[in-house]
Amino acid sequence: MAWPNGKRWVYSITYDEGVQRLLEHAVPLHRQYGVPGHVALVAGQVGVPRDVPGSSFDGWMILSRAELDGLCAEGWGVSCHGMTHAAIGPDNADVEVVQARATLEQALGRPVTMFCVPGNNDSYPSALQVAAAAGYRAIMTITDMVNTPETDLMALGRVPIHTRYPGPFFSVFDPYKRLHQARDLGGWVIDYCHCPLPGQPVHEAKDCTLEELEQRFETVRRVGGDEVWLAEPNEVVAWLTDREAARD
Ligand SMILES: [Zn+2]
Repeated sequence: MAWPNGKRWVYSITYDEGVQRLLEHAVPLHRQYGVPGHVALVAGQVGVPRDVPGSSFDGWMILSRAELDGLCAEGWGVSCHGMTHAAIGPDNADVEVVQARATLEQALGRPVTMFCVPGNNDSYPSALQVAAAAGYRAIMTITDMVNTPETDLMALGRVPIHTRYPGPFFSVFDPYKRLHQARDLGGWVIDYCHCPLPGQPVHEAKDCTLEELEQRFETVRRVGGDEVWLAEPNEVVAWLTDREAARD
């Protein structure tokens, strides 16, 4: 399998919630390493403090439309992360998935065709039920796996690159996580975190540190060389969708 321009595998990274503090630390690293980023946004909370009580990032300022315009002009992308970040079931899927897309498109003034499951995969089945009819072309979950060109775009996995995990499967940050697997399979890694900060993760099972993020980018560039396509997820979905259409 060849990706565009003869690339052998793909690397993407996503930041759930899209907090404004990404601009201080993560964004400069993206520029330095030439990696485009992606933010998954709660549709009803663009450019205002996050209002999700109990969240590690509750009260943090979320990127504004102008700030997002700037990032998108640099090649970043966006997805919808629900209307309120509530767990999604049959009763609220219309608001959290369908209406959220229109609300986010309105707030950003740009198309939104990817959904990113909030919380955990328990919200996935109800989101999936309504996503395609609502106009989404892809869904990102938090299943830790490498995607391939054959992966269902409505069930994309993401690789958590966090500092440390709790039991029962304790683990620590690994800058190589799944990269050689992706290279061998011709696959697509989508990393997942929130807002890496210097020295200390906000929450060790939700983020890595800024230093770990830099190790990750350095490792992607070193392992990937000229073979890795550094792309934000919407670009990859568009490429796979066009390729599928061309086959039909
Ligand atoms: Zn989230």
